[in-house]
Amino acid sequence: MTLRVDVLTLFPDAIAQYATTSVLGRAAERDVWGLHLHDLRDATDDPHRTVDDTPFGGGAGMVMMAEPIFRTIEANPDLARPLIALTPSGRTFTHDVAAALAALEGFTLLCGRYEGIDQRVLDTVVDDEVSLGDFVLAGGELAALCVIEAVVRLCPGGLGNDASSVDESFGDGLLEYPQYTKPAEVRGLAVPEVLRSGDHAAIARWRRAQALARTLARRPDLIARRGGLSAEEARILAEMTILEENGPNG
Ligand code: SAM
Repeated sequence: MTLRVDVLTLFPDAIAQYATTSVLGRAAERDVWGLHLHDLRDATDDPHRTVDDTPFGGGAGMVMMAEPIFRTIEANPDLARPLIALTPSGRTFTHDVAAALAALEGFTLLCGRYEGIDQRVLDTVVDDEVSLGDFVLAGGELAALCVIEAVVRLCPGGLGNDASSVDESFGDGLLEYPQYTKPAEVRGLAVPEVLRSGDHAAIARWRRAQALARTLARRPDLIARRGGLSAEEARILAEMTILEENGPNG
């Protein structure tokens, strides 16, 4: 199944440029996903292709007008659903939201600009609002690309090698273990011995312990969300601590 992603935007070229590059571009070539761009200015009928106006009640900046957005939606009855607006006030985008979107046949992203989108659009035709986090971008295009990339990576075939996305941060509610590559020693810094041992069970235990320790230290909220450590996880962590204190023969 090809995931259909529609994007309503004032800057279709910005989306197209990144979406045709690297992981996203290769995944589109393999028909993992398909991008449908809609320029909101195409739905205007004045010579200046106006899409914004001053806010009722006063205040700085401009607001995206409702009519070009309504018209774009009406002119494209096949837009993928749900229709999701990128807004700082939306629910926070997470791995779980990405995984849920990757399981759909498609979705549409509405990118805001200026001071945002006329509320009447959000109240009537938008199904969901998603935020990248507690900060403010100049527009929804970067946010849309982040959502698309996170989702496409999780689609079957999105990375070419599906194992790549299984073992990553958040996949099982934990941060990822540390990664190392060659050479085995760089500027006096050695790779942990276990990773060169060829003992796959020991490597898996070490990685699990590292992921648990790192998540406990950096994101205890993620551990709490999983209901704390299981007895097995506590044992793996304790084992690693003893090894670190006493060495492999201790
Ligand atoms: N006045 C708005 C507010 O205070 O919430 C901010 C508008 S922002 C300058 C313009 C557009 O950028 C938004 O409509 C939205 O599409 C996008 N945007 C900004 N920050 C975002 C975030 N954290 N997550 C998702 N989209 C964001």
